[in-house]
Amino acid sequence: MKSIALCLCLAAMTGMAYGQSAETLQIRAVREKNEYRWIQEYIPFLSIPNIASDSIQINKNAAYIFQMMKNRGIEHVQYLTADSKGTPPVVYGEVNIAGADSTLIFYAHYDGQPVDSTQWSKILSPFSPKLLNGSLENQASLIPFPDATGKYDPEWRIYARSASDDKAGIMAILAAYEAVKQAGYSFHYNLRFFFEGEEEAGSTHLYQIFQKYTNLLKSDLWVICDGPVHQSSKKMIAFGVRGDAHVEVTVYGPSRPLHSGHYGNWAPNPSLMLAKLLASMKDEKGRVTIPGFYNNITPLTPEEKKAIAETPSVDSQMKNELKFSNEEMTGLGLTESLMLPSLNINGMQGGNIGKQASNVIPTSASAVLDLRMVMGNEYTVQQQKVLNFIRKQGYHITQQEPTDAERKEFPKIAKVKLSEGYNAQRTSMSLPFAKKLIAAVKSTSREQLVLLPSMGGSVPLFVFEKYLNAHTLMVPIANHDNNQHAENENIRLQNLWNGIETLAAIMMMK
Ligand SMILES: [Zn+2]
Repeated sequence: MKSIALCLCLAAMTGMAYGQSAETLQIRAVREKNEYRWIQEYIPFLSIPNIASDSIQINKNAAYIFQMMKNRGIEHVQYLTADSKGTPPVVYGEVNIAGADSTLIFYAHYDGQPVDSTQWSKILSPFSPKLLNGSLENQASLIPFPDATGKYDPEWRIYARSASDDKAGIMAILAAYEAVKQAGYSFHYNLRFFFEGEEEAGSTHLYQIFQKYTNLLKSDLWVICDGPVHQSSKKMIAFGVRGDAHVEVTVYGPSRPLHSGHYGNWAPNPSLMLAKLLASMKDEKGRVTIPGFYNNITPLTPEEKKAIAETPSVDSQMKNELKFSNEEMTGLGLTESLMLPSLNINGMQGGNIGKQASNVIPTSASAVLDLRMVMGNEYTVQQQKVLNFIRKQGYHITQQEPTDAERKEFPKIAKVKLSEGYNAQRTSMSLPFAKKLIAAVKSTSREQLVLLPSMGGSVPLFVFEKYLNAHTLMVPIANHDNNQHAENENIRLQNLWNGIETLAAIMMMK
């Protein structure tokens, strides 16, 4: 009880509202008792490099999780493997409850994005977890991990690759399970744990695993624990994701680089051609001008519209944090803009700049475009609309490097490559299990719960629906400023603690 009082007092001091249900308070008390042990378990886990293609290290991660599950008494712990060799295994386990007629599966992934350690702060290293007394952006400093007698300030952060994306998901799920057991509460549904090892590499074999283990993976709901909570720091449930696909464009100038003095004004410059082409894809208000780009969008239901209207606006906060003044689509808020398909220039290249800069007319210029799809969009159709638009601008389209004959014949040539991709996915807010889950998460906090019909980002949730006929809900826990996928990735401890309470509440729901 003493620790709960202390916690509530801290909460008042930091201006945060804290949970209401008796169960949540009890789970919190258990967490406080176990903080040291769980962090001690987390540090070696974060120390194992986890790029999906590094099978030696990835298997060490899988083995570590296997042991974490065994230690908690989880049943039938096993590796689920795809038939393709070298695919990271899924680490799977079960908790079977007598008389339970429904099953919840908890998903997180243990692989991470590739790292470039030279980009990380000098005091950090991707696979050597460090503790900071706040965020690096706010000039926090390195502190030692406390010993068994020390206390963790919830504003402290652990810095390491996958500290948030998504080993935090695994740690929080397993800690939540342990906390419910320790607190003496019971489960009403069968639980399954499913930890994937190649999410950041595109989950390319997930469908094989789903096909092979269809019976084992029968469930009523998948709880996907990945990604950040809302930028307002409030807890969030996302009911869907946008789809994703790429279009790569290369346009051509002269067949060899030319002196820009001898040939400038005369030889066509591919960088300028590309700039014009890309600029023509959006109007002054930021709307995509490609014909039909916004067609076929499934309208939001009244319930989804209400949820968006109730989502707190973080536009001013985020503009201030990210240091820009105007949104791209004039007048459209962040949440609303994520409900539309998008076209983003991921990168452009044409000639060199900086130390490599030279006075040349380059031979080609390229761009990678990222398309995000919403419900109703077919990704191949969206890609085709972009391709048709490029053709309409007078470009001869090719899939390979143009031949000399083509270069001589056509004034404008574009090599266009369409990537593999996937469509958006969304779960209905009125699904009975969705309603239960909303109530469970609400019981953990006095603050508003943000319900997003769709996240802006993409996860191939359609695979779950297509191969398992499953319902999915995203329950993220990481802080929004966690730098996932980039250097200096981190998890704020309060987010980890909140995540444990959230997941425990879901595991206990009736
Ligand atoms: Zn992730």
